[in-house]
Amino acid sequence: MATTISGPRVLLKQLRETMAEPLASQDRLDKIVGLIAGNMHADVCSFYVLRDDNALELFANRGFKPEAVHSTTLRLGEGLVGLIAKQAEPLSLDNAPAHPAFAYRPETGEEAFQAFLGVPVLRAGQTLGVLVVQNRDAHVYGEDEIEAMLTTATLLAEMMSTADFDALIKPGQDIDLRRPRQFIGNGFSDGVALGQVVLHDPRVVVTNFVAEDTEVELERLSEALDRMRLSIDQMLSHGDMQSFSDHREILESYRMFANDRGWVDRLREAIDNGLTAEAAVERVQNDTRARMMRSTDPYIKDRLHDLDDLANRLLRVLTGDGSGVGKKDLPDNAILVARNMGPADLLEYDRTRLRAVVLEEGAAISHVAIVAKSLGLVAVGQAENIVSLSENGDDIIVDGQAGTVYLRPTPDMIQVYVDKVRLGAKRRAHYLELKDKPAITRDGVEVTLLHNSGIVADLPMLQDTGAAGVGLFRTELQFMIASRLPRLREQVELYSEAIRLTEGKPIVFRLLDIGGDKVIPYLRYEAEENPAMGFRSLRLALDRQGLLRIQIRALLQAANGGPMKILVPMVTDAWEFRQTRLVVNRELERMKNAGQPVPSKLELGAMIEVPSLLWELDQVLPEADFVSIGSNDLVMFLTAADRGNKRVAKAYDPIALPRLRALKHIVDMARRYNVPLTMCGELAGKTVEALALLAIGMTKLSMSPPSIGPIKEMILGLELQPIRNSVSSALLEGASGPGIRELLLDWAERQGLVI
Ligand code: PEP
Ligand code: MG
Repeated sequence: MATTISGPRVLLKQLRETMAEPLASQDRLDKIVGLIAGNMHADVCSFYVLRDDNALELFANRGFKPEAVHSTTLRLGEGLVGLIAKQAEPLSLDNAPAHPAFAYRPETGEEAFQAFLGVPVLRAGQTLGVLVVQNRDAHVYGEDEIEAMLTTATLLAEMMSTADFDALIKPGQDIDLRRPRQFIGNGFSDGVALGQVVLHDPRVVVTNFVAEDTEVELERLSEALDRMRLSIDQMLSHGDMQSFSDHREILESYRMFANDRGWVDRLREAIDNGLTAEAAVERVQNDTRARMMRSTDPYIKDRLHDLDDLANRLLRVLTGDGSGVGKKDLPDNAILVARNMGPADLLEYDRTRLRAVVLEEGAAISHVAIVAKSLGLVAVGQAENIVSLSENGDDIIVDGQAGTVYLRPTPDMIQVYVDKVRLGAKRRAHYLELKDKPAITRDGVEVTLLHNSGIVADLPMLQDTGAAGVGLFRTELQFMIASRLPRLREQVELYSEAIRLTEGKPIVFRLLDIGGDKVIPYLRYEAEENPAMGFRSLRLALDRQGLLRIQIRALLQAANGGPMKILVPMVTDAWEFRQTRLVVNRELERMKNAGQPVPSKLELGAMIEVPSLLWELDQVLPEADFVSIGSNDLVMFLTAADRGNKRVAKAYDPIALPRLRALKHIVDMARRYNVPLTMCGELAGKTVEALALLAIGMTKLSMSPPSIGPIKEMILGLELQPIRNSVSSALLEGASGPGIRELLLDWAERQGLVI
């Protein structure tokens, strides 16, 4: 016999009335399952709740023996109910006891029922419970009934988050939807931060679920969709994608989804079943999130992520939600949580209150990670699903060193980290005391420590670290932050400001290193299969010399008659360096002819970060005023391991023999030609790696400002000569001795170095 349901709309209305009635919690739940059973013509209706211990407890029932309520439990994955909870998908069967997963519970008397329909109760993609109806006779519940049950489940999920519901939970079996969670991600920037979640793109909380008038809701949906489509089209046509924090491709896929009939039909169907437009979006989004969490295919995951974002935008249009916490109006100790964001998004927040950034995506050397690091913020990436599981104001701990995030941490965990933070503060105070001490080893080798920087705002940190200057100023970050190409005058102002803030200490400006993963939103790029090895950086600059000329002109003018150091990125062969020198010389001539003051001393340096240049050092070194090793790219290209790809980025130790030999070759050659050499890749800022660099004879290290203290401390306690001897023999001996890292760690222990 096929059931005919009197319609989910009627049911939803009845459920809403029941919610408003002054009933005890269990009575209310009992009435609800009764209403569902009646409406669906079911012999049984059960509501299971997933507890903290991963057991599904029968919370309310119509049709079983009464003693089963609160005593029947199933494990996650056990029985049909466990299966639904685990897979977060509906299950409809005409003969449930015949299903291999069927788990018999004698206290229920369940064997008598054949037809079975169960749906997950989801919130933000998490399974909270399972709602089931059963019938004695064998028949298949149809699509309409599944849809009606899913709609009802949306309402139950909402009910579960009310205080009223808590009264049903037995002591010791907390069903804390907002339980503590741990995320194991990747540390992007060291340090520890405790604070409160600020969602970069907050979820909209739907409160009004049951529609008064379906026609009105359909109309609201249609208007909201139109408005959202229009705004996506406008963003695409203006090319202003900064606020989206991602690039064009994402907008294109948003546009595709916004016009996707399947998605729109599912939204309309949910409204037809009695939900408001916003509740319909939430209901469809719940399915999406559940699927997203299960998928292992990164492409599907990405597309579903986009759809999830789009649903949030639609909710915002529907509810007129202006998006939570203001960017300048942050709580103290704000910790920003986002799926992903660009450096511009990050800089819009009030930095004095920001402690850390947590992303679901990103890579350690992505722009936002570099900016976070240079601002001294703790940062962790690849914290999967953290956006949907957190809410504004939640307590959160971010451990940048371990790459771990604790959401809603337990008091014990908070205590552990409060102690760590105290220790960190002590350490910082200690580093501050070291700031005026020169970095000299115990056996008298002086090391120059410099900052890597990219935005003017982080230059005043020079005063706290006592660094000797800026070894690398990545000019492209300013271009990435801007919404259009900075004009000559704007660039002059910016570089002048940077010079002013370094207060007479040297600063090395690196020419635009764009392309690859450093996307400038307002410049057009052709899609490339291998952008890191594509039309980028100096290749692009020499091809489109307009951009290069203006930047060089701006730098020469900013020097204002004083000294100027310019570094050329991604030099692949000597010819390219020569070409750049020609452009510089032409600009110098131009200045002289115009009677403008030329720099008192102009130095042009080459970055060594493309392996090919290692075999042309005899040509480049005599022409370069200085050189700087970019180990991030150099090691990537030497090992053919993408620096931004977490699977391979750490696969090869950058200071293992083959890489260290390459670095030693550069050191020897620079010495032969008497050309000053700096290391400005990430290696310089890590203690063991920096020790390796000192051991092969490097004495100028440029790093992110927070690394200066630890590296200086290591240098002050170091007796370098014996380590140099050991490393030299290891380089000659080949692979028979211990690995370089082990060797250095052994030395560090013997010398009592903090490493
Ligand atoms: C490098 O490649 O090591 C480097 C310093 O430059 P960037 O990280 O900006 O590519
Ligand atoms: Mg580089």
